[in-house]
Amino acid sequence: MPENLSAKKKRTAEVVELLKSEYPLAKCSLTYKTPHQLLVATILSAQCTDKRVNQITPGLFAKYQDVESFAYSDVEELAQDIRSAGYHNSKARSIQGSALQIVEEHNGVVPDNMEELVKLSGVGRKTANCVLGECYSVPAMVIDTHMIRIMNLLGLSNTKNAVKMERELMEIFDEQDWVKLTHMIIEHGRAVCIARRPQCQNCVLEKLCPSSLVGN
Ligand code: SF4
Repeated sequence: MPENLSAKKKRTAEVVELLKSEYPLAKCSLTYKTPHQLLVATILSAQCTDKRVNQITPGLFAKYQDVESFAYSDVEELAQDIRSAGYHNSKARSIQGSALQIVEEHNGVVPDNMEELVKLSGVGRKTANCVLGECYSVPAMVIDTHMIRIMNLLGLSNTKNAVKMERELMEIFDEQDWVKLTHMIIEHGRAVCIARRPQCQNCVLEKLCPSSLVGN
């Protein structure tokens, strides 16, 4: 019989409590000092590890010290500066283009709402949710590859569509947990519920997970 909404919410609350006890310090692993630096770091992180991004950004933020510096930068030079992040030409266009919009349309301040954020060059819901949750304390959930994989394994969603999943999960997770949930799931996905080789025997969620391989 399919799990009803109240049973799903109860299981969801248990999942969150177990994750909080396992990953009490889970937080955004990108390093940044301002909302704009986080925006840049998040654009760089597409198809790239956070570790690599954190190797690039100290030098990048020393060279381009504010939004204006990015806005009026030479895109080809910027692309070379971020080359090791991959997709450097399109990422450079996004970083320069979004910075120019922020300067010219938002007085140099990164918008604090989804509607305006997704109008920025190269900024999708994932990047926008990241900035909203981290910098503006707006309840927001980032749906990345770990979230998609693990929420499906846990049977808390059955879609791979990030926008649809975001809507579904917002129904069952407590709003105050949204930001932290993503960080905890990312840690869980890196350490235990690893893609294609989940370590179910070491998983704190094993008793709540319909995909557990323990005993199989
Ligand atoms: S029990 Fe296994 S499949 Fe389920 S969340 Fe844990 S590691 Fe992933």
